[in-house]
Amino acid sequence: MIILKLGGSILTKKDSLKPEINFKNLNRIVIEITDFLKGYDLKNNGLIIIHGAGSFGHPYAKKYEIGKPFLDSEYPKKRIGFSITHNSVNEFSGVISKCFIENNVPVISIPPSSIIKTSDKRVSYFNLDLIKDYVSQGFLTILYGDVVLDDKLKMAVISGDQILSYLAKNLKFEKIILATDVDGVFNKNPKLYDDAELVEVLKSLEELDSFDSTTNIDVTGGMLGKIQELIELAELGVESMIINAQTPNLIKNALKGIEVKGTLIKSKL
Ligand code: ADP
Repeated sequence: MIILKLGGSILTKKDSLKPEINFKNLNRIVIEITDFLKGYDLKNNGLIIIHGAGSFGHPYAKKYEIGKPFLDSEYPKKRIGFSITHNSVNEFSGVISKCFIENNVPVISIPPSSIIKTSDKRVSYFNLDLIKDYVSQGFLTILYGDVVLDDKLKMAVISGDQILSYLAKNLKFEKIILATDVDGVFNKNPKLYDDAELVEVLKSLEELDSFDSTTNIDVTGGMLGKIQELIELAELGVESMIINAQTPNLIKNALKGIEVKGTLIKSKL
């Protein structure tokens, strides 16, 4: 089984204050995945795609401060904020699914808010059986960054990266690929420093000089949040790979198991 995470930064105009899809990237990536699937037994091997929320989620989650403690008197505002955020990311996922359907790929997009709960922002409940059932019936299964009910905070945001990490800890995957808008992990933010160097193999956070959150509207941790999840996974013996989804054919080749440029996150041992 393979997990492919498509970053919100690649599928949406992430800095945009209103939801906006990057259709050029979306259409190309859907074609790359469809091409790969022509030689892949989806039913017996399985592919789960997780996509970020990008500009469909972050601006609303930030506006309504989803994930911050609140008073009971604020419930009405929080609830509508939760609804607006969920509806927006759900619609976004629907557009992605539609692209796959147009390419004759059987797809199901499962709203994380319906199958996941958190406790203080970490997964406390996850209906894995449903995911396993869809995968084993041969559906390309899609999950995404969403809002969820939280046992302590009442409501929280769950990132695609945390969903990926939970699945990778609890199911067996041959490949875990994260496609983002840079070549991989650099010793410092490549968007801000021209002399940033790509780290081809990453084993700990200490190997990096500094992190800048992607954009100040990313409510789920940007690259730092992503790497924290992946290093934790590596410590459990699960390797993952970060690649650049802007480079044509990289996703297709990575899915096929061809060696591509990027960062491999593996354990220290
Ligand atoms: P996605 O939306 O694909 O999940 P993010 O936007 O959360 O990805 O994270 C990718 C971004 O992280 C890059 O566009 C880059 O600006 C930023 N970033 C910050 N520090 C680093 C670093 N050390 N190496 C790579 N990217 C970094």
